[in-house]
Amino acid sequence: MKTNNQTVIVTGASSGIGQGIAIAFGKQGANVVVNYHSDEEGATSTLEKIIEGGGKGFIHKADVGKEDEVISMFEKATSEYGTLDVLINNAGIQKDSDFSSMTLDQWNKVINTNLTGQFLCAREAIQLFEAKKQASPDDKAIGNIIFISSVHDIIPWAGHVNYASSKGGILMLMKSLALEVAPKKIRINGISPGAIATDINDEVWKDEEKMKELMKLIPYKRIGLPEDIAKVAVWLASPESDYITGTTIYVDGGMTLYPGFVDNG
Ligand code: NAD
Repeated sequence: MKTNNQTVIVTGASSGIGQGIAIAFGKQGANVVVNYHSDEEGATSTLEKIIEGGGKGFIHKADVGKEDEVISMFEKATSEYGTLDVLINNAGIQKDSDFSSMTLDQWNKVINTNLTGQFLCAREAIQLFEAKKQASPDDKAIGNIIFISSVHDIIPWAGHVNYASSKGGILMLMKSLALEVAPKKIRINGISPGAIATDINDEVWKDEEKMKELMKLIPYKRIGLPEDIAKVAVWLASPESDYITGTTIYVDGGMTLYPGFVDNG
């Protein structure tokens, strides 16, 4: 029996982790807004799998870094389903460079998508949650936001200063917002993935040598899959986790455990 009738927006859901999360909510019976930026085919395939799994939804093109496009996306979601229950703030990019040669454009693009994009979507979601009937202190949450961050919100990353800065920013955005809206019974949490096999890092997991190097950083000795993140996201947005807010769950096969110390340092 499909018991999840949440309405969920998943940003960057045309591939990778966002696609996995959108499909997992679909399997639970949720209404899923499949946001995409440029890959309409990928978004359509996500939607097909949502429907196959017993969910509903539609695809919606919007750049999360553009305010007017974000506002229209949330308006479309509420005109279709009346309300919003969950935002999965997932869209993200990398533009890698040594620091001394990093262009302002590389810096701005990453900050604009990864940090400002998550701010804009979160703000629209909070406005919708606040407009819901105020829950009593004994009720479950009236809305959930999950920020998809990265282990690089706490692990420094040379050659990726723009990316790590955006993810470090998300950590404090998530926590400060959680504090601000907790009395309104709105829950805000983060999931920080380790290495998950998706398009963003395919040059690593498609290369045997690079995979060998990567495994030195993963005590659990396997690369993660989008489903590893998706299962946590569904649970973290459910009443089963109702007392959790302002927390980050690291889904990383132990990458944040200082793997260099596995042999006694
Ligand atoms: P991905 O490249 O498959 O997915 C990123 C998605 O974001 C794509 O669908 C892309 O189209 C979308 N996107 C990019 N710019 C956008 C914009 N301006 N507006 C809307 N959508 C946009 O990679 P992924 O690994 O699935 O990444 C998803 C999230 O997970 C990102 O935030 C990434 O930083 C994070 N993450 C990934 C890993 C990993 O190892 N794969 C690890 C840690 C964190």
